[in-house]
Amino acid sequence: MIPDESDGATSFADLGLRSGLLEALSGLGYEEPTPIQREAIPPLVERKDLVGQAATGTGKTAAFALPVLQRLPEEGRGPGPTTLVLVPTRELAVQVSQAFHRYGRGLGVRVLPIYGGQPIGWQVKALGRGVDVVIATPGRALDHIGRETLRLHDVQTVVLDEADEMLDMGFADDIEEILQETPEDRQTVLFSATLPPRIEGLAGRYLKDPVRIQMGRETGQPPGMPPLIRQSAYMVARAHKPAALGRVLDVEAPTAAIVFCRTREEVDQLTETLNGRGYRAEALHGGMSQEQRDRVMGRLRSGAAELLIATDVAARGLDVEHLTHVVNYNVPSASDSYVHRIGRIGRAGREGVAITLAEPREHRMLKAIERATRQRISVEKIPTVADLRARRLEMTRATLNEVLLEDDLEHYRAVVESLTEEYDIMEVALAAVKLAYDSSGAATDEEEIPQIAERAARDGKDRRDTGGRRERRGNRSPAPGMTRLFFGVGRGSGIRPQDLVGAIAGESRLSGRDIGAIEIADRFSLVEVPEAAADDVINALRRSTIKGRKATVRRERDAANKR
Ligand code: AMP
Repeated sequence: MIPDESDGATSFADLGLRSGLLEALSGLGYEEPTPIQREAIPPLVERKDLVGQAATGTGKTAAFALPVLQRLPEEGRGPGPTTLVLVPTRELAVQVSQAFHRYGRGLGVRVLPIYGGQPIGWQVKALGRGVDVVIATPGRALDHIGRETLRLHDVQTVVLDEADEMLDMGFADDIEEILQETPEDRQTVLFSATLPPRIEGLAGRYLKDPVRIQMGRETGQPPGMPPLIRQSAYMVARAHKPAALGRVLDVEAPTAAIVFCRTREEVDQLTETLNGRGYRAEALHGGMSQEQRDRVMGRLRSGAAELLIATDVAARGLDVEHLTHVVNYNVPSASDSYVHRIGRIGRAGREGVAITLAEPREHRMLKAIERATRQRISVEKIPTVADLRARRLEMTRATLNEVLLEDDLEHYRAVVESLTEEYDIMEVALAAVKLAYDSSGAATDEEEIPQIAERAARDGKDRRDTGGRRERRGNRSPAPGMTRLFFGVGRGSGIRPQDLVGAIAGESRLSGRDIGAIEIADRFSLVEVPEAAADDVINALRRSTIKGRKATVRRERDAANKR
């Protein structure tokens, strides 16, 4: 049995979830519900309305998806849908539907994301085949309602996910129109990172006596954070996380660290990656026996291992005296969990370092933790290849210094003397330092990890506030609120900025004023358009030509790697 420090820890089974779901969650390596899941799942299963203040990273998607799946009838399901989830963006529609698939696979749930930019004919066919859960952007949902290809009279639950984002993107009227198409006795669930009056107004009009849940709220309690902790965060895209962590660890060179992951799978994968990078890392998760856990702990204490990769559940009750670093591989799902993890370092007056890797979307959750703990987490740049080299040189220098102070070096004198007959003594020293340097570190990767500016990671509202057209030639990230589109035509085909503006304004809903910076290279062009309109522009231009040429149009894949 794993020791448990938290008050009355709740398992997914305690929440009364059906066995098919428990199996799926365990298969995904989820060890316990996050706070928002603990609070939201029971009332949602009972079909209560709910307003949840929760940012990305809290586990909010499972908080509303699991109750829907819990109530999914085993058989005799009609054409549906019985659940409608409205989301602000295509990306979120895809993510949420993947989550429904992952959790509900064993239950045979029929899930369909529908969003602008995807051929509508295909969506019409998929809807016609029957579906339980539709996850839609408001514009495309209305489009289908107008065509009568999406019928909402069987809907029992409507979820408004990231409601503040949807309102910021101008979907308020669309949302209300859609809600009016659904049955009066539906369950309505609203999740939003912030609850400004406009959201409260929407909730007041469409939710009945909702349960309210707030995450990351200031408790007014002294946070109880140990005083001697340096707290930093790194903004990094998911794909670059393992490399970024390796880089940060190389620079920090912890003596003993715990890296917290969300799931068992993540623990296993990361352990493998870090071992491949030359670290002595050990996995620790709730699926392991007490004996295995003790063995791992012993290795950390004796210094045979330097990194412990663990889930929260597995790390509970661990007493690791000499921990120097706590690393959050993801932003923790609640500020309490952050405080609890960090509480393991900085004990007995020792200094400690807390490091958090955050995906751009988790920026708000990071801010919520800062508010709750009333401490600043400074956002740092991921070490560059040059930083890494500088750090290794510094370590080499320190090692040489130690050797100079302590070791008896007479034994090597003859080697140096014979070399100085031919070379300058400085050159001999340089060669020796090079040898020491080369043998000092694990292989360093030479590829730079794209830096994400903190500003660019801020939420949609902030981005939109400063939006507009501006010259950003040569700048790596698009203007706030804008997305860069790639057009497969460039100077080589005689393309000028006005040709691109003309094509976009002529084919899509955008006007010239909405279009941002334009960059024209020999074989391609990059054009900034408002994020909310990107899909429409792509869709519209796919069917047309630019200066008589058919051109590839898509989102720019990786802004930082382009040049
Ligand atoms: P969300 O806040 O819904 O975007 O979820 C954030 C991330 O947490 C997603 O990658 C989920 O797969 C993951 N997640 C959600 N619930 C849990 C849980 N109980 N245990 C571990 N990971 C979870």
